[in-house]
Amino acid sequence: MTCWPSVIVATPAHSGVSASLSYRSELLLAPGTLVRVPLGKREVLGVVWDCPTEPPEGLTDSQTREVTGTLDGLPPLNARWRQLVKFAGQYYQRSLGEVALAALPPQLRELDNTQLARRLKRRTQAAAQPAESKLDQQTQPALSAEQAEALSVLDTASVPVLLFGATGSGKTEVYLRATQRVLDAQGTGGTPTQVLVMVPEINLTPQLEARFRERFEPLYGAGAVVCLHSGMTPAQRLASWLSAHTGVARIVLGTRMAIFASLPGLRLIVVDEEHDPSYKSQEGARYSARDLAVYRAKIESEALSTAGGVAGTRCQVILGSATPSLESWHAADQGRYLRLAMPARIGGGSLPRLRLVDMNHQPKGAVIAPPLLAAMGERIARGEQCLVLLNRRGYAPVLACHDCGWKSGCPHCSAYRVFHKLDRTLRCHHCGFTERVPRACPDCGNLDIAPVGRGTEQVEEQLAALLADARRPDGQPPRVARMDADSTRLKGSLETQLAALHSGEVDVLVGTQMIAKGHDFRRITLVAGINVDAALFASDHRAPERLFALLMQAGGRAGRDAAHSAASEMWVQTWTPEHPLFAALKTHDFPAFAAEQLAEREIAGMPPFGAQALLRADARTQAAAQAFLNLAAAQAVGLPHRDAITLYPAVPLTIQRVANVERAQLLVESASRGALQRFLSAWGPVLHDCRSAPEARGLVRWAVDVDPQVI
Ligand code: ADP
Ligand code: ZN
Ligand code: ZN
Repeated sequence: MTCWPSVIVATPAHSGVSASLSYRSELLLAPGTLVRVPLGKREVLGVVWDCPTEPPEGLTDSQTREVTGTLDGLPPLNARWRQLVKFAGQYYQRSLGEVALAALPPQLRELDNTQLARRLKRRTQAAAQPAESKLDQQTQPALSAEQAEALSVLDTASVPVLLFGATGSGKTEVYLRATQRVLDAQGTGGTPTQVLVMVPEINLTPQLEARFRERFEPLYGAGAVVCLHSGMTPAQRLASWLSAHTGVARIVLGTRMAIFASLPGLRLIVVDEEHDPSYKSQEGARYSARDLAVYRAKIESEALSTAGGVAGTRCQVILGSATPSLESWHAADQGRYLRLAMPARIGGGSLPRLRLVDMNHQPKGAVIAPPLLAAMGERIARGEQCLVLLNRRGYAPVLACHDCGWKSGCPHCSAYRVFHKLDRTLRCHHCGFTERVPRACPDCGNLDIAPVGRGTEQVEEQLAALLADARRPDGQPPRVARMDADSTRLKGSLETQLAALHSGEVDVLVGTQMIAKGHDFRRITLVAGINVDAALFASDHRAPERLFALLMQAGGRAGRDAAHSAASEMWVQTWTPEHPLFAALKTHDFPAFAAEQLAEREIAGMPPFGAQALLRADARTQAAAQAFLNLAAAQAVGLPHRDAITLYPAVPLTIQRVANVERAQLLVESASRGALQRFLSAWGPVLHDCRSAPEARGLVRWAVDVDPQVI
């Protein structure tokens, strides 16, 4: 019997190719089947979306080409998965083909059926390895009262759960127990139950992965826990994907891309550190993995309830954070999410005390204020550790000539190149352009060119000097180390550095926000943020929210050992100690901070009280970029819901030029998310047309960013 499957293939977002292409097949193909199809002169991977037995109208047999073959042995992608990618494409204004194919592991395109069969076999063998039952040897800690309460409420929650737990309150144990319950439960139709656990950056939280493996591998076998993140090789990614898709893997631990993993038995999604901006993709389909997690859990639950399984069976979602996003907080205020608070730290320890240092009253030019330095010396003498947070890597953000005013600008970007002293380079952090530091000023020949401002390299160097007289309990001078994107570039170096900190080899660790993330360091009793003011005055309205989260997180690294917690401190050097953010930070009062921020946003009509999108344009000239945007705005007249939409004038981005491309954007706002969505859908074809208008000559690319994180 001949049928005419419509197949989704990878299409560029704005290529104009319609959602699916029609092919011919002598076999009836189930929706979701992975196939190879001819496209032009190539053969590409595709997903069957539908398989009508009548030829599509206007198409004859001779016009349609035959499906080349199916990917044997792979069950079709299920309806929920297809609904997820369809929704993501629509909501984030990208083509279905782009979203669907980007969600599949790239190596799937390259393998023939024999190679695929071999890989599938390897996966199932991994699973078949006998899982020695170490159940009774397992050391599961007795739950704290708060954890037990959270878990019992979780049992009955029918909406997404916002787990608002202080740093060190034991959120991970709640995730582990919730996962255990899901894995114990019977799956429907022979599909084993599965759990998706998402983290912002897997490398920064090796402990989380270790704890999941430790807990579940003895019970469910070595193949039961797999990772999915962009740092994996194509072969590793395929292996994990196959495990998840075939139900061999029971737990997928991954970064934002994991939200698209095929998980036929999905029953629980955990989004750890749900406020983290890295859940929002900044390229391609600019999706929010956190928001998609909520959507995905909803459609999975609906399917489970209509499938007539055990009553009340559903797919739950847990969003965990000590400093939730204002979007999630607001949803909990409204009752759309269920807020579960775990304010107490495990072991009854307290959160670190805030010590604000007013830099207006410190010696001029002091990098580290004398009282902070003294406090660090005392900690070191007691064998405790300190973390120093500075969100700027390199030695100095600029190198300058004081004679002629030359600065180390990047020739390709409207930004300065950063001075890296260790390898004596000037590096652009935006386009990567790197050169050796010049011996003399390139403009006037002056030999005396000097760094301006401070980065982590310099603070590391200066702290080592400033603390030279301090002594560890063993009489040795303290060891200062640095951890940032530069120091951890080499494979394995992050692990080595973390190990040095855990073993107590390092006394003071200087680093970027990387050091503030989920690590469970036991001997840190002092955390210091030394240059935080920039975030308070940034034009971006989310900057205070991010700073608050960062400082709370960083502070959360201190005093995790209850024995030390009473004496643990969070120091912040600031020029504006009167800023209200610090008052809330002092009392660890996130609810107060959130309430105040939300009140401000409500007045301004900003998210979550209104919806936003950005139209972004990159072009050879700033004029062309802006012309495209302004034309797009002008052409929007008469589109559905246009009167419910505010289109702001086009403006250059803060860093206007990167790698010789000029960047501009236009803000789109509406009080109604629905109106914004419908307007954007209608605007899409218009944008496509504007691209070829004479005004837009020199346009390189454009994109829509729905729910943008950075404006
Ligand atoms: P969070 O993720 O909330 O910051 P963690 O999950 O890292 O906190 O827990 C903090 C510490 O407390 C960890 O070392 C963890 O092993 C420990 N812990 C968690 N729950 C318990 C418990 N019920 N009993 C004893 N220790 C616990
Ligand atoms: Zn000069
Ligand atoms: Zn550059």
